[in-house]
Amino acid sequence: MQQEKSLCLEGQDKSVYSEYTGYTMISMSDTSKTSDIKDKLETALWDIPFICIHAHLDPKQLTAQGLHHVLLYHMPLSELYSAGMPNGNRLSWYATKDEAKTRIKEALPYLKYVKNTALHWLTKKILSDLYGWNEPITEQNWTKIDGIIARKSTDPGWAREVLKRANVAGSSTEYRLRDKGQADDILTYALEWAFFTRAQQHQNDSPLFELEWTWSQDGPAAPLPVNIDRKKFIAEKRIATLDDVKEAMKHYISLVPFDKLVCAANHFSTEINYQDVTEDQMKKALKNRDHATEQDRDVYTCYILQEYLNALEHASKRIVFTFSVGAEPMEHETASLLPQKTLGQLINVFAKHPALQFVCFSSSVHSDQALCTMVRELPNFSLAGYWWHNFFPGYIETIVDNRLDLLPANKQIGFFSDAYHLDWLYGKAFIVRKCMANVFARKIARGQYTFDDCIDIAKQICYETPTKLLNLKKA
Ligand SMILES: [Zn+2]
Repeated sequence: MQQEKSLCLEGQDKSVYSEYTGYTMISMSDTSKTSDIKDKLETALWDIPFICIHAHLDPKQLTAQGLHHVLLYHMPLSELYSAGMPNGNRLSWYATKDEAKTRIKEALPYLKYVKNTALHWLTKKILSDLYGWNEPITEQNWTKIDGIIARKSTDPGWAREVLKRANVAGSSTEYRLRDKGQADDILTYALEWAFFTRAQQHQNDSPLFELEWTWSQDGPAAPLPVNIDRKKFIAEKRIATLDDVKEAMKHYISLVPFDKLVCAANHFSTEINYQDVTEDQMKKALKNRDHATEQDRDVYTCYILQEYLNALEHASKRIVFTFSVGAEPMEHETASLLPQKTLGQLINVFAKHPALQFVCFSSSVHSDQALCTMVRELPNFSLAGYWWHNFFPGYIETIVDNRLDLLPANKQIGFFSDAYHLDWLYGKAFIVRKCMANVFARKIARGQYTFDDCIDIAKQICYETPTKLLNLKKA
């Protein structure tokens, strides 16, 4: 039986086996060789520059301002909250010293419960590699490492040094964070403004509100928060007719600084049914705005999405439509949930706009097979990285392994950080390289790739493909 042949047995005639299966076998005595190859691959991967196509880096605070930004980045923060830390809210974007101190002190008693997690490993790696800190964080010593990080953040060369150590050539971030452009040498920009395709709980007219909120703005601003209190957000103009929708979209598009952007960042809620919508359906749904149903919400969303995609297709400069999917809101934060139905509907949206490139950030490892099959059949759809709930070594390795087998190298992007500070971009670049080295070592052992193939493929998916797809200048 073929399967029995694949068992690794000491002393078996490898050449016969290889001839029979086409694979190279690894004997027990070869395990040290495999770990040698893994180490060599990992070292070689550090020489390949990565591009980060999605992050939330802020030129006003590119690196962590204190321990809070490393310890309480939203992903490890979730684990601490789960372990019992009383406050599960994310840190304020510009946290005060008092807020930082309170939150760190609240976290300390729960660190002992997350020693086992991959994210805690990355926290330790960041503190060790970037700040030379190799001790457990305690009530007695946390102010010391907090001070080291805070002092480093005032060094004008530190951000670029961290990026260099991560060997990341550059990162995309939200355009509204650009400030005076002081980090234009290392950042590119994504339009992250109105979220037309994100549902708000119990607000079926939310797609109209997203659009009319921008109607009185004079440029890209912060996106509306999730589950907004509408009493606190009163738009100056109200959308009542189809002409209003068209007028508001015209205003929105006229303010998009296409020459400064490489992509638009969006999110598709899975609650919405993505379908073709006619003008008559939209007119009818608009009349029902004050008592809008979920069906009306779907009509608003799909009509506005069609208008938006048509405008992007005909814009002076084509930007890539990136989107996240598969982190669905719960009472607190989100969970990895992605119904197949949503993917089945989205594939039709992408197929109808062949001039646009769509790039997906999925947080659902179990949907990766469906997503890969979509990419295989659509020339304008690609996958990037391992978003949020997928960013754990086991999932990353599974995804890298399967995508390498299923997708052309110019249809997959091997990395993005989603980091708020370069410290976590460093930590994430570290773990992705380690996971890739493990996957490549297995493929070498299988006889699928040579060492040189691995390096060439890694260069393509981590540097060449994002550079070409987002039309970036080569470093
Ligand atoms: Zn993000």
